[in-house]
Amino acid sequence: MSVVAIVGRPNVGKSTLFNRILGTRRAIVEDFPGVTRDRNYARITRYGTPFVLIDTGGFEPASEDHLLAQMREQSRLAIEEADVILFVVDARQGLTPSDEDVAAMLRRSEKPVLYVVNKVDGFSQEAAAGEFFALGGDRLFSVSAEHGRGMDDLIEALLEAL
Ligand code: GDP
Ligand code: MG
Repeated sequence: MSVVAIVGRPNVGKSTLFNRILGTRRAIVEDFPGVTRDRNYARITRYGTPFVLIDTGGFEPASEDHLLAQMREQSRLAIEEADVILFVVDARQGLTPSDEDVAAMLRRSEKPVLYVVNKVDGFSQEAAAGEFFALGGDRLFSVSAEHGRGMDDLIEALLEAL
């Protein structure tokens, strides 16, 4: 079964996106025995193509340096396991060095990546989202994980990538 990992620096909205995908009408979610404690893994069976969705970064905040080290390690493990990666960035925060860090890891992995620009709640963020082309993707998916905006296009592309 295909594995889809959600990666990105802390606070971009990975867990919100994870829950949004799980919460959509067509997603039937089953927990894996043994790894349900953080609800970071879900097996989704009603998208036509079943897949496993992994959220990353569900750790306790430590110091800033520690947090970034944890982000790299968790991202590395998730990327290794994944067949497709949802790389989430934050349109409100804009492009950061940590985003570039993750992007470099993803290029090295040579795995298919969907670039998800989150927190595009309205028109003003839509205009700002273009700066993320600098990360190397040829398509950006502008979404609002919180409000559900842009999810249909993203899910469609995700299913195509599986
Ligand atoms: P994670 O650390 O990447 O898992 O990020 P979270 O999912 O915990 O979200 C971090 C913060 O961003 C929370 O306060 C969310 O409510 C907020 N957030 C997530 N998605 C959106 C969105 O689409 N729009 C806005 N405005 N805020 C969001
Ligand atoms: Mg999280």
